[in-house]
Amino acid sequence: MGFTYLDPTKSAKFKDRYVTKIDETIKKYKGSETGDVGIIGLPSSKSSISLSMAANAPSTIRAGLSSFSTYSATQQKDFDDRRILDFGDVPIHPTSVEDTLDRLHISVEEMLQTEACDRYIILGGDHGVSYPSIHAFQKKYGRIGVIQWDAHHDVRNLEDGGRTNGTPFRSLLDGGILNGDDLVQVGIRDHANAEEYDRYAKEKGIHVYTMDDVEEEGVVSIIKKELARLENQVDMIYLSVDMDAVDQAFAPGCPAIGPGGFTSRELLSSVKKAAQHPMVKAMDIVEIDPSKDVRDITSRLAAHVMMRFMYK
Ligand code: CA
Repeated sequence: MGFTYLDPTKSAKFKDRYVTKIDETIKKYKGSETGDVGIIGLPSSKSSISLSMAANAPSTIRAGLSSFSTYSATQQKDFDDRRILDFGDVPIHPTSVEDTLDRLHISVEEMLQTEACDRYIILGGDHGVSYPSIHAFQKKYGRIGVIQWDAHHDVRNLEDGGRTNGTPFRSLLDGGILNGDDLVQVGIRDHANAEEYDRYAKEKGIHVYTMDDVEEEGVVSIIKKELARLENQVDMIYLSVDMDAVDQAFAPGCPAIGPGGFTSRELLSSVKKAAQHPMVKAMDIVEIDPSKDVRDITSRLAAHVMMRFMYK
């Protein structure tokens, strides 16, 4: 006998015939598909210097996509035909951080070898995942430029704790994977860094913009200026979005929250501007701890950061 209302194969959700939700357009990669944007989850946060459950963020950010439609009122366009491929999450090693970093690196590298997509989104995890990820893109594309939205430089010494979420850019710079002149840091905040790391950033030639610079120049014009500089010297551009660059009022679900950061609108408009550049091929989103979040505010903002990248 058939059911009148029950359908064990579908969730019991309201469906409006004219609305496509973003999660409805995402397909799992099974080995031969091609798409416009690929997604991979790097659920690693055991190398965080403070207790973090950021490993749970790939699933809460993906869940956030089910709340929003594919239609952009600004662009007057429905992106329901955009092909998004999900490569799944990398299983991390239960105890070894170095083994986990190897697994993340190999998995991003293998995803790129499929050549299935033009552009990719990498969901962390803590900021430690950017080191193996950016390294994989550098091996594939050559000289890489990075624009990093962050309250922190992330160039801590490795003597105090090995490779953590505070060291990814030091590992990339000292490892010769990234040039200081090809790294742009926007959103650096007061009382969130040390004088030694400011000195290191200057010595390496990193292009640093504090929140005071952002207030003076505007984040979108900083991004435009830096893209125009990077496009003449690198082979591809990677965006690294640490959600703690956003003010704690808009991103309460980060381990290192603080006041005086970006508004959610500033983050979205600047990521959108960067994503429109043809040399921008990848973006990671890191440092959301869903267990500290309030009503998934931070994961839902991250879902919108994805949309600005996917629907350019
Ligand atoms: Ca960071």
